[in-house]
Amino acid sequence: MKRIGVLTSGGDSPGMNAAIRAVVRKAIFHELEVYGISYGYQGLINGDIQKMELGSVGDIIHRGGTMLYTARCEEFKTLEGQQKGIEQLKKFGIEGLVVIGGDGSYRGAQKLTEHGFPTIGVPGTIDNDIPGTDFTIGFDTALNTVIDAIDKIRDTATSHERTYVIEVMGRHAGDLALWSGLADGAETIVVPEADYDMQEIIGRLKRGQERGKKHSIIIVAEGAGSGFDFGNRIQEAMNIETRVTVLGHIQRGGSPTGFDRVLASRLGAKAVDLLLEGKAGVTVGIEKNELVYHDINEALTRKHTIDLEMYKLSQQLSI
Ligand code: ADP
Repeated sequence: MKRIGVLTSGGDSPGMNAAIRAVVRKAIFHELEVYGISYGYQGLINGDIQKMELGSVGDIIHRGGTMLYTARCEEFKTLEGQQKGIEQLKKFGIEGLVVIGGDGSYRGAQKLTEHGFPTIGVPGTIDNDIPGTDFTIGFDTALNTVIDAIDKIRDTATSHERTYVIEVMGRHAGDLALWSGLADGAETIVVPEADYDMQEIIGRLKRGQERGKKHSIIIVAEGAGSGFDFGNRIQEAMNIETRVTVLGHIQRGGSPTGFDRVLASRLGAKAVDLLLEGKAGVTVGIEKNELVYHDINEALTRKHTIDLEMYKLSQQLSI
């Protein structure tokens, strides 16, 4: 293999730049040529492809977002779109591809591999919802952003003695809600992976009220329901003033944490190693602090789960 490509696709996450940098530098270290494909699969179809040098990825390790931009591309879900992409890769003499993104992007990588084009997936999403890795690139940064926001909300919640419902990202995964809830001592954490009982939530709030708690924080993962809906139901049931904050896209941005920079560097470099070893159709990950790889089909069929022991602990610590 002499020439590889790299792209970022789907939702961006902090640390994607550090992963791009690692792919480019590790490839050049091994005397490969590297091409950056802008705007994900859309840019691939359009031939938006440039050669990258060592300096192309200078001064980006600490920046959020992705210097290669990202996009969603419906056309790439069709066979025709995928073939157009492969034609572009051939035109540029690219022999292997690293795709940094979430599970949707992995499906594109799976298709390319099925068509005989060696592709490796690198997990980049703040949701931490990709099987085959304990952590995805961007999760730790988003977690710290959420913690910072909740700490601030807690100040005003205490001053006004109010109940706050905070909706965090996670369409299918409750990791951000669970980790931030545990880190912030939330009274209640609602995640899509576990059933909740509204009466139990109300009972918990009432017990807190009776023992003189000044405020309550309830964290809801967006996949478990709307924060506003929860807020209304609590306000009606308890007749207490309830405020709702939807954190939204603030969770996607910002300078990546040290953990995410290191994770991205290790996973990006590992993807290049795997291409050089002749691997295709695999995803890289980290399990128990060891770099691992799994068949992409396995990563896409395995179901993501939250750590139920941690969930139980969060309930035990907020009685
Ligand atoms: P994420 O990678 O963050 O989960 P998306 O689900 O939006 O984001 O997927 C990103 C892109 O991956 C899509 O816009 C599309 O171009 C490509 N993609 C998603 N699903 C498929 C599929 N089944 N086949 C081919 N490409 C796909």
